[in-house]
Amino acid sequence: MTVPRFRPILDSLPGYRATEGVYDKEPARPLSANESPDDPLPGVIEAIGAAGALAHRYPDPQCTDLTRAIARRHGVGPETVLVGAGSVALLQALVVAVAEPSAEIVFPWLSFELYPPLAQLAGLRPVAVPLDRYHNDLRAMADRVTDDTGLVVVCNPNNPTGTVVGKRDLRAFLDRVPPTCPVVLDEAYYEYVRTPDTCSGLSLLRTYPNLVVTRTFSKAYGLAALRVGYLIGSQDIVDTLAKVRLAYSVSAVAQVAGLAALDLEDQLRERVDATVAERTRIREALLAGGLKVPDNHSNFVWLPLGEDAAGFGGHCTDAGIAVRTYDGEGVRVSVGSPEDNDAFLACAAAWSPASNLSGHRAGVRSTACIPQ
Ligand SMILES: *Cc1c(COP(=O)(O)O)cnc(C)c1O
Repeated sequence: MTVPRFRPILDSLPGYRATEGVYDKEPARPLSANESPDDPLPGVIEAIGAAGALAHRYPDPQCTDLTRAIARRHGVGPETVLVGAGSVALLQALVVAVAEPSAEIVFPWLSFELYPPLAQLAGLRPVAVPLDRYHNDLRAMADRVTDDTGLVVVCNPNNPTGTVVGKRDLRAFLDRVPPTCPVVLDEAYYEYVRTPDTCSGLSLLRTYPNLVVTRTFSKAYGLAALRVGYLIGSQDIVDTLAKVRLAYSVSAVAQVAGLAALDLEDQLRERVDATVAERTRIREALLAGGLKVPDNHSNFVWLPLGEDAAGFGGHCTDAGIAVRTYDGEGVRVSVGSPEDNDAFLACAAAWSPASNLSGHRAGVRSTACIPQ
């Protein structure tokens, strides 16, 4: 049978699969997607409901009000802010915008699992730079930048390991990347950072005009279902990417919900503080139980279990707890409600590698999808 022809690269991409059991049945304890464990604030739900009355109209393609509110929030001009349908859509706009034939993208690995497929779909050659003890290895990444580098991605804090890059290291790195090469700092979890050892790219934008920062409403702001995120960078970059971003892709509902969330930020901050306190509690309990857990600055913890990852992930799934397993690498567990966290800690305490050699299903993802 003749089949329609598509790009061969599509045959090698695994396609995104959410953790098993998360969407096909209600997971008892959803700790696999780094979502906020709290219900949306009443003010946010109200705004979402009110937006329904205008469902027959296209949304504002410029996201004018939300763009202005984000700009005020960060003390920058609205011309330096670009809103997108999730920060992933803005990362996609970036890779598409730099995807000349032969262009490369330099990114850390292990890191956010969408970097490789986004790059490959755009036709960029992926240059995955191994982590250094769970950290983005900025020196090694700078070493890999060449004339062909179209984009460099730094994930701070890194997903899934939760580590941050050092302030001085970040500056030294940016000093080494040519000013013609865009660098994106993915700060999806920055609201959970409580250490003075790192800094947001937002404080470096003036010094490095090739730098852009992405943030999201999906995690700390609790709007994962609505798909809204933003990027801050020079007006030149924002104007360029605005041509790439799909018009009308940010729904009116997402725009008003983002506005409402910014209005209610004090309440959201309390929730983020509670998540940070839970993160500390979880890490200390795991360490006390003899597990290795790197220092962590996001709303999840990373267990670098190596070959035991699949066994541990399966053990959690069997206990009705959805976690994210990276085969041969480790398991990422989101900080959830105190009750879900307790359940996870009990589950972790009941695990020993020796009793779990029974060959659990392979985990969701591995590094195998990255051609070098
Ligand atoms: C969750 C996450 C995002 C956010 O994606 P959205 O499209 O804004 O929901 C971006 N980057 C990383 C590293 C993430 O983990």
